[in-house]
Amino acid sequence: MKNENVLYSVIEKEYPEVDYGEGMYIYDTKGKKYLDCAAGIAVVNIGHGVKEITDRMASQAQKVCFVYGGTFTSAPRRRLAEKIIAMAPKNMDKVFLCSGGSEAMESLIKIARQYQIEAGHDKKHKIISRWQSYHGNTIGTLAIGGRPSWREKYEEYFPKNISHISPCNCYRCPYGLKYGSCSIQCADELERVIKYEGADTVAAFIMEPITGTTSAAIVPPKEYMKKIKEICEKYQVLLCMDEVITGFGRTGKNFAVDHYDLQPDLIGFAKGLGSGYVPIGGVLVSKKIVDTIAKGSGSLTHSFTFSGNPMACAGAEAVLDYINDNNLVEQSDKMGRIFIEKLQRLNKYPVVGDIRGIGLLMGVEFVKDKETKEPLDFNFSAEIASYCFDKGIIITGGVQGSADGVNGDALQIAPPFIINEEEIDVIVKTVEEAIEFIMSRHGIKN
Ligand code: PLP
Repeated sequence: MKNENVLYSVIEKEYPEVDYGEGMYIYDTKGKKYLDCAAGIAVVNIGHGVKEITDRMASQAQKVCFVYGGTFTSAPRRRLAEKIIAMAPKNMDKVFLCSGGSEAMESLIKIARQYQIEAGHDKKHKIISRWQSYHGNTIGTLAIGGRPSWREKYEEYFPKNISHISPCNCYRCPYGLKYGSCSIQCADELERVIKYEGADTVAAFIMEPITGTTSAAIVPPKEYMKKIKEICEKYQVLLCMDEVITGFGRTGKNFAVDHYDLQPDLIGFAKGLGSGYVPIGGVLVSKKIVDTIAKGSGSLTHSFTFSGNPMACAGAEAVLDYINDNNLVEQSDKMGRIFIEKLQRLNKYPVVGDIRGIGLLMGVEFVKDKETKEPLDFNFSAEIASYCFDKGIIITGGVQGSADGVNGDALQIAPPFIINEEEIDVIVKTVEEAIEFIMSRHGIKN
């Protein structure tokens, strides 16, 4: 439907207009039905149109929609924080709330810096993050992000003192090594960069435990996380996780760090907490950090107008109750195992380089040559997504830069946790058809 006034990202594109959503499905105003294998964009983890959630939002709306979080607290805000802490790693003590993922990661950076100052490490101000990661679209979060094509126009505005290390990607090891016979050199890079920067100047290391939108579900080996944790502890660098995509069950555990028995210092989260019913995000803050700031200045030098908004908190609390009452984290684990097994069928195609992921966060990376892993010279996954969309299946294509930050593309597969086996079969079959169609369109032999 043509719209004259909305500034869409693709300005002249005519987008279908959504009418309503129900469970795994979205319906547009022309009556077309779409199977939502993207959960929007890894957001709608509980599925669309759950009445319990909207009822509880409506009853909160009838009481009060807004109070400023710096003036009042509210029962939904307190209960939500308590429920988040109950799901979080044991060392987490308090929750800062905001409206989305970029705000969460901006907040995390500021809390990390404030902690270092109040812990008496004034000089610790530098941040280290990783290439091929995504942390948001504000200037600050783009600067810690590692997708060159999204950074390049804005680099002039980036804060100083941010550096990046190579990603951990066993399919495309930055050191040309093989997992099993390497000594996790990609983690040693963190120690080297801390030393080059000066350990007394590095405040925090920030990473996605399992990657999302820039490199499609790369799962690091356990030894990587263990080494990273040891290095951070050795140099009093805060270990900070971006669980905006992975938090609240996406990978089959409450948080992705639970796969590694890891207790980071700070965790940013967003998407799944509100499941698309409300815009919400936040930061889990460990006891060490809370205590230091409480005993120091006693207040955060950070807040937003919508921090702890009662409506957002009521919606998110209802979502968490729904996730827990319906065992949806276990369901994400179970359906993820089934999905990734069924995806193995795609390995028969010469263009399928890697199938990876955990829980319901999966990626399929495409290549020109399976042996050399040379990337294709066009965006194969974007064409797949477009083919599937025409057939009524929403899947996220165009995850670009998965090979080296610039080249390489992958599909991101992140459906709602309520997906069933028949729906998985339909999706895999349609992706197979799409691969064959696009291969033949580009003259690629099977
Ligand atoms: N961090 C990660 C890992 C993300 O995947 C995203 C969004 O996709 C963000 C941060 C930014 O979140 P938002 O788009 O809600 O600002």
